[in-house]
Amino acid sequence: MTNKGTGLGVSFDYHAHSTYSDGGDITAMARQAADAGLDGIGFADHCNVTDPELSSHEVYSLHETYEARREEIRAAGECVDIRLFDAVELDFDPEAIGRLERFLEDAGFDFALGSVHHVEGRNVMHPPSTGQLSDAERTQLVDAYFEVVVTLIESELFEVVSHLDVPTRNPYLRGLPEREQYERVASALSRSRTVPEINLGRVLTPDAALHPDPAFLDVFDEAGTTFVVGTDAHSPGQVTARLDAAAGVLEDLPVDIVDGPAPFL
Ligand SMILES: [Zn+2]
Ligand SMILES: [Zn+2]
Repeated sequence: MTNKGTGLGVSFDYHAHSTYSDGGDITAMARQAADAGLDGIGFADHCNVTDPELSSHEVYSLHETYEARREEIRAAGECVDIRLFDAVELDFDPEAIGRLERFLEDAGFDFALGSVHHVEGRNVMHPPSTGQLSDAERTQLVDAYFEVVVTLIESELFEVVSHLDVPTRNPYLRGLPEREQYERVASALSRSRTVPEINLGRVLTPDAALHPDPAFLDVFDEAGTTFVVGTDAHSPGQVTARLDAAAGVLEDLPVDIVDGPAPFL
């Protein structure tokens, strides 16, 4: 599963952030991806079109800036010899599927990542929003999170579903996801066009974690799930550093990973 002998294990990164949310300069990110030996990188900036507070925040405002970003991606494409994708990491809201669908149709991105960061008004990645919860409430929040992920997959709105078990980034929720919840997700994926992501956002942390947790990847292997890989890089250096850190790991994972352009491209 190597590419061009670089040993990266993948040739496309489907999830990177630019200055149009909380990431790095588009041309610098593209150059870094090209230098790393990738054949393509997708700019999937944060976007929220359903929560009034978040949608007006500059980090989540790609709905207002995607046309300018599109032009910048096009210009950056003249500086590198790899494919650059005009993508989005869109917050999913199960109560607003129609609005999300209209936005995606209007914007016409190359592909869309669907993400669940907030459940029941709480940021599931953010320790302060969950630290005061009882054990029962934490368990319930994690279950509600997986329910929303299943609804995201069943909505058929997205080419990719990001970081399937992102509550494990939160020390208060880590260890709570259960096999049965991963099985529900794998079952939904087996009936959907949506492709899940191996997310490298935490690969350089001390526990070298991946999303989804490799301890549950056998569930996806049994379901025949194929993954794409996203660095979730927020700076040019993170593209290379995370791919380097993951290189040997990705090859040993017991699931299929798309090495090259995914079917939706
Ligand atoms: Zn995310
Ligand atoms: Zn991201």
